[in-house]
Amino acid sequence: MLWFAQAAALGRVAAVIAATVVFPLLVSGPAVAQQTPGYPSRPITLIVPFAKGGPTDVVARLISAEMTKSLRQPVVVENVTGAGGTIGTLRAAQALPDGYTLVLGHMGTHAAAVALYPKLGYRPDVDFAPVALVARMPVLLLARRGFPASNLAEFLAYIRGHQDRINVAHAGIGSVSYASCMLLNHLLDINPTGVPFNGTGPAMDALVAGQVDYMCDQIVNAVLPLRTEVIKAYAIASADRDPAVPEVPTAAEAGLPQFQVEAWNAVFAPKNTATEIVHILNAAVVHALDQPEVRAPMTGLGGVIPPPDQRTPGALAALVAAELPKWRQMLKRPLP
Ligand code: ASP
Repeated sequence: MLWFAQAAALGRVAAVIAATVVFPLLVSGPAVAQQTPGYPSRPITLIVPFAKGGPTDVVARLISAEMTKSLRQPVVVENVTGAGGTIGTLRAAQALPDGYTLVLGHMGTHAAAVALYPKLGYRPDVDFAPVALVARMPVLLLARRGFPASNLAEFLAYIRGHQDRINVAHAGIGSVSYASCMLLNHLLDINPTGVPFNGTGPAMDALVAGQVDYMCDQIVNAVLPLRTEVIKAYAIASADRDPAVPEVPTAAEAGLPQFQVEAWNAVFAPKNTATEIVHILNAAVVHALDQPEVRAPMTGLGGVIPPPDQRTPGALAALVAAELPKWRQMLKRPLP
């Protein structure tokens, strides 16, 4: 009787193993990992250098779920926050180049931060092996719902009259939100009080709660609160309106054509990561970007999935090389 119970228990264990290990192997995506035995053989950490719930975190969680399926190892998001995303990014730069620590960087961590931190501990174009661009996304000028202005001109007039009382939320020096609103503030010649958060997830909470006045952030963080009208937007810093928020005027339509910012997110590994591993990771990201589970939510929230020719490691290296001087120039410009 005892052996029968044990055998039945073992049978259940075998069934669980079959269901959790073998079955996913049979049904999951392309055999990205099969060509290179050995990698990945354990979970991969994808560092998000900002808080949970913000745009970088949302993008990371979308792609990590699909990468987990195709790589057949968990891709685990770890939020390592602080200093505008530069702390988590530095950790990735200093990690072993074994393919098990990656970072989802962005226009801030891998471009703007260089112009703002004289002693930044990493060089975006030297200390990383670029893996793949994941998304491009417009940036919007957002305000708390009760902010007493209904368009950009009124926003400017109100701020000019109340400079000492206005605050702007951001995700730390060097972040997309910081760099974008720094550009905006330069253009408008205004000098509000900055309120740093460890990501624009919590910054958005504060905006919704009316604790801060305005913020510049990626569209992915803005679409849902705009739809539910718990915040408002004065402009999108792009040449065209965005179908995800068609009611928001372009910066040019709102009267500030120079306010043009494009944010992007991309996966990076530490430098000296083996080319073969970079290729495996790139294939996993590229595969993820083509899955409806990623495409539908990403595009629904206004993110733009790059076309295939922009998803290569080489294209990402070229993007970083172009963004570094651009942001150094943009953030050093004198006040108008
Ligand atoms: N959007 C943020 C930034 O300003 C970061 C985040 O929470 O994703 O860089």
